[in-house]
This record gives sequence, C-alpha cells and structure tokens, in this order.
Amino acid sequence: METSRIPGFYKKSVEERRDLLRDMHGLTDQDINTLAEKEALSPDTADKMIENVIGTFPLPLGLGLNFLINGKEYVVPMAIEEPSVVASASHIGKVVREAGGFTTEATDRVMIGQIQVVGCPDLQQAKDKLVAKKDVLIENANAAYPSIVARGGGAEDLEVRILNEESNSAYQQMLILHLYINTCDAMGANIINTMVESLAPMVEELTQGKVYLRILSNFADKCLARAKCVIPPELLRTGDFSGEVVRDGIVSAYEFAASDPYRAVTHNKGIMNGIDPIVIATGNDWRAVEAGAHAYASRNGQYGSMTTWSVDKSGNLVGDLELPMSVGTVGGSIRVHPIAKIAHNILNVESAQELAQVIVAVGLAQNLGALKALVTDGIQKGHMALHSRSVAIAAGATGELIDIVSEKLVEMKEIRVGKAKELVEEYTK
Ligand code: NDP
Repeated sequence: METSRIPGFYKKSVEERRDLLRDMHGLTDQDINTLAEKEALSPDTADKMIENVIGTFPLPLGLGLNFLINGKEYVVPMAIEEPSVVASASHIGKVVREAGGFTTEATDRVMIGQIQVVGCPDLQQAKDKLVAKKDVLIENANAAYPSIVARGGGAEDLEVRILNEESNSAYQQMLILHLYINTCDAMGANIINTMVESLAPMVEELTQGKVYLRILSNFADKCLARAKCVIPPELLRTGDFSGEVVRDGIVSAYEFAASDPYRAVTHNKGIMNGIDPIVIATGNDWRAVEAGAHAYASRNGQYGSMTTWSVDKSGNLVGDLELPMSVGTVGGSIRVHPIAKIAHNILNVESAQELAQVIVAVGLAQNLGALKALVTDGIQKGHMALHSRSVAIAAGATGELIDIVSEKLVEMKEIRVGKAKELVEEYTK
C-alpha cells in the first residue's frame, strides 16, 4: 500500500469508505459484500466455533489510519465499542509519522509450556533426571507435533524449577518443567498443549511423581514485541499548550503510573484500548494477550506502567512499550472468522512477529493519545463529543436524528440519556 494517510476518511459514508478499501487494498467484491453483510459470521459457522450458540455479537470495525512503522504504511483494523479510540489512534499515528514513524522489533516467537509434577520422593533428584534427559524430552515433544518442526519451529529448550522446597505441605511442594517452543506464525496454544501432554508419561517415569497440569503459560515473556517513538516537542503543541508543557506533562503522568498502581491500571487500560481491538479484529485470543500484558507490568514486583516516557538530550519526547504478544496470523479462529480474514488482508502483515509489532505500536500510540488529552484539555472534551452519538442512540434516536440530538447534547454540555430522551421526544412530536 502506498500510504495509510487518507485525509477526510472520517467524513465519508460507510459505503464510500468500503469502496476506498477496494481501490487501495485490493479487497475483492466478495470481501466488501462480507463487510456489508448483517450476518457476516453465519449462525452455522458460529455454531461450530463455540457451544450453545444463539446468535452472534457484532462490534463496530473501524480503521486506525496514518501508521508508519519501520518505514511501512499500515491501515489498522480495530473492533471496539468505545468511541474516540479509533480517532485518537489515527491522530497520534499522524503525529508520530511526522516525527519519522514508529520503530519496532520482536523476539523469536518462543512460547512456554508448563508441566506440574507433584509427589516426587526426592525433588532435587527428580529435577536432575529431567535435566539429564533434556535432549530426549525435546525430541519426544517434537515427535508429538512434527509439522511445526517442519515449519522451522518446535521445542527448543527446557528448564526445571522446584517450588516451595521448604514447605511441609505436599500440596505446595512441586516440580515445574518449562518447555520452550517456537510456534512460528501460530499463537500456539494447541501446539504447546499437545507437546506438554505427550511428555507426561515420560516425566512421571523419570521423576517418580505425578503429573497434574500440562498447559501453556500465558505469561509469554520470551515472545516479546517492542515499539518506540521519538517526538520533537513542537509536534505536541495543542491549543494554548506549548509542546514543552505537553511533553513534560506526559513524562510526569508516566511517573505517576510508574509509582502508583491505582493510576497504572487506568494508564494500562488506555494502552489495551489500542491493543485489544486489533487482537479481536484479527481473530486472536485477547484474553491471553490481556493476561500476559498485565503480568508483564508486574514483573518487577509492583504493578506499574506498561510504557515508559522520557525526554532525550535534544528535548524530544521518547516513548517505549514492550509486551508479551502471543498472537498469530494462522490457527485458532483466524481463518474461520470471515471478518478476521479481511482484517488480515487490510493489515497486510507477513508474519506473527510483524503483527505483534504493529499491535504494540498502536498500544503506544493509544497511550500517547490518552496522556496528551489528559495533560491538556482533559479526556472528556473529545470523548464526550463522540460518546454523545451513543447516548442519542440509547435514548431512541434513529437516522438523521442521531446527529441532531448528539450535536444538541454537546452544545448544551449535557451528555446524558435522560436529556437525550427529552430531545428525541421534542423532535419527534
Ligand atoms: P491451531 O491449533 O489452529 O494451530 C495452528 C496450526 O496452524 C499449526 O498447527 C499449523 O498446522 C498451522 N500453520 C500453518 N501455517 C503455519 C505457520 N506459518 N506457523 C505455525 N503454524 C502454521 O492454533 P494454535 O495452536 O495457535 O492455538 C490457538 C488457539 O488456542 C486460540 O483459538 C486460543 O484461543 C486457543 N487456546 C488458548 C488457550 C490459552 O490459555 N490462551 C488454551 C487453549 C486454547 P500444520 O503445521 O499441521 O499445518
């Protein structure tokens, strides 16, 4: 794609935006029809994805624009119900592209499978035996899932830890085996679980203990993605606020989140506002990403900010976000959900590593958007103006009345459902 800058995109109708996508992204007529369908995810498909299906639950799908990451243009599909998130992402995308764009990197896609062993007669001896048989264990794990080895991945290493060695409780004493598995472009839960389950009999034989849990860890701290941006203060100027004042406010807001869990949770929620919508739109497991991200924010013993913000020697604002990112471009529901397939086409990433990098870049952008608003006009000004449309709909407005009522609510500075109901009644008399 030539550019992710599409000026005036927000002013176009939904149909016009779809047509633009067809021209810019080579989406097929069928893709466009699928986007327009009321039941893009058919009840039949839904019924095969989960149990006891009674319908589907649609969410708005918007596009985060203006993203320039490692010199490549990205239009970012975002599935989310909260107003102002997509607008904020696109706004910051534009600010950062003027500063040269985001730079990102990712580790190899190494995920962790855990095996819990209890009741070992001698914990240390059991540990030593597992370590001594490391190569055989890895070989056996790979034999349980040869196709991932053929793709260049598979089990690569293992470690063993003893938990609660000093405890007198048999429930607390245990041996934990970590199997490190490169899952290539898959998130890998099923690959990992198959491998660790296959090792259980051998682990029991070697340790003389009993294996209980055999499952992946969602604390994917060997599958990291990192995004960075460097922004000259003049690009941060907002209304009467100088760029330096905005920059310093952002760094101070970061320090608040870094030192106070009450603030950090909300700060990080704002980051996940950028991350979850892409994870959902691309058919990935957002619970896994959420769990891993928050655990990573506590890795130093206290829950803190996922991002860091500082000022470099030239006075630029420097932002950084590093998170575990267990996402895939294949597997799970990714090739099953028709909209997820289209989201991947729009995003145009070649690998899970690349997807992970786009996701953290958008998370960093979302954090900057929230902090910039918070240290200037406050979050409500922009948010409530966009929220007013949802309030109008909740009050029963339809068609053209939605914009009429929402504009009136903003003008009256009374963005409440009660007030909106009064207006709907008045206008429909
Ligand atoms: P799959 O079980 O669908 O496995 C992915 C498959 O894709 C691979 O086995 C591989 O099969 C195929 N494939 C094709 N191309 C590639 C490639 N380039 N790289 C890697 N694999 C490729 O999905 P996952 O194992 O990723 O599991 C994800 C699902 O598991 C999600 O739906 C998640 O919700 C769910 N889950 C999550 C848990 C959690 O705790 N988070 C727990 C349990 C399940 P082949 O090589 O044979 O073609």
